[in-house]
Amino acid sequence: MCIFCKIINKEIPSYPIYEDDKVIAILDISQVCKGHTLIIPKQHYPNFLSCEDSTLTHMMKVAKALGNHLLQTTGASGMNVLSNVHEVAGQTIDHCHIHLIPRYSEKDAIQISFHPNKEDHDFASLMNTLAIQSLDIL
Ligand code: AMP
Ligand code: ZN
Repeated sequence: MCIFCKIINKEIPSYPIYEDDKVIAILDISQVCKGHTLIIPKQHYPNFLSCEDSTLTHMMKVAKALGNHLLQTTGASGMNVLSNVHEVAGQTIDHCHIHLIPRYSEKDAIQISFHPNKEDHDFASLMNTLAIQSLDIL
């Protein structure tokens, strides 16, 4: 059983700040910024992209409401809302979760920056390769 399933089953302790029938939100043990929280579905899905739709919809609603609550209660100036998918993107626990990371300063211990890729890009070709007419959304 994965570590988040054990937390949900109360086999190992955690610091929950919100819980309902579908999700639990706990303080991330790393507290990269004060109030760093994980929203975790009670059902095990390996990651965001494999999570069942209605569960994910609920998680996003919780992320919005709890994110606003954390912003108010911590006095943070901003927030990173993110979900890592697979090891190459930084996922270390293979149970879907969304990070809420309150931000206080650009010098916080987390820094997310986009460094423009200096290679030449054929945008028209890329668009043609990636564009899709319709998505399989229920
Ligand atoms: P990720 O790297 O995106 O998969 O995020 C996993 C997160 O889980 C990391 O930020 C860890 O600090 C956090 N974490 C690992 N073990 C625990 C635990 N027992 N309680 C709370 N958070 C944890
Ligand atoms: Zn699990």
